[in-house]
Amino acid sequence: MNYRKLRENVCRMNLEIVEAGLVLLTWGNASAVDRENGVLAIKPSGIDYRQLAPEHIVIVSLANGQPMGGDLRPSSDTPTHLELYRSFLEVAAIVHTHSQSATAFAQAGLPVPCFGTTQADHFCGDIPVTRPLTRKEVEQEYEANTGRVIVECFQTRNLDPSHVPGVLVNQHGPFAWGNGCRSAVENAMVLEACAQMALSSKRLNPALGSIPEFLLHKHFFRKHGAGAYYGQGNHVSSQPDGI
Ligand SMILES: [Zn+2]
Repeated sequence: MNYRKLRENVCRMNLEIVEAGLVLLTWGNASAVDRENGVLAIKPSGIDYRQLAPEHIVIVSLANGQPMGGDLRPSSDTPTHLELYRSFLEVAAIVHTHSQSATAFAQAGLPVPCFGTTQADHFCGDIPVTRPLTRKEVEQEYEANTGRVIVECFQTRNLDPSHVPGVLVNQHGPFAWGNGCRSAVENAMVLEACAQMALSSKRLNPALGSIPEFLLHKHFFRKHGAGAYYGQGNHVSSQPDGI
């Protein structure tokens, strides 16, 4: 099996995050999962985006994390993606970047506060930040522990990854995901846009607080869930767009 369609989709995602200005040099990676066949597809490690083609995309076993054929090594962040796919079963695709404003919040160890309806629509509130990794977690299985600390962040705060499709890893940067390739890329773009807007809003009004819960819930739930009435029923987080 050569997973042609999956490779094409993942190649396109990796090119789209560069085009969207979310990736400098090779600071980013995108993947998608095929749960039926128990594999994920991810960018190879250290390959120049200008040369990236579908045949370079690496297929990795979801069960044991090993590449399935080919000469190229998968992205060094593959164990992070594996942990997220194993724990967040509704996630079909993941994007990791070091986009500037989101990374500024991650480095500051701060969540992106929900100052307006743009973020309410897409993230149902603050974009959370994980706790920092411990020395031991960094020295042993660093990349897998990065995924585990994200899962821990969602479990301890009782967050639903399909309502909050992204996170900031403390001292590192953003991860975003979706129920398809397109929604994962869009959520990575929205995450960065929300971080940029939050920085500007706070600069304009340093005393600014989060939007009230009644406005937050009005915006989120008119697009998501049983009572949704916004758009044509194909919002990025409510319908699979195929991978
Ligand atoms: Zn990174």
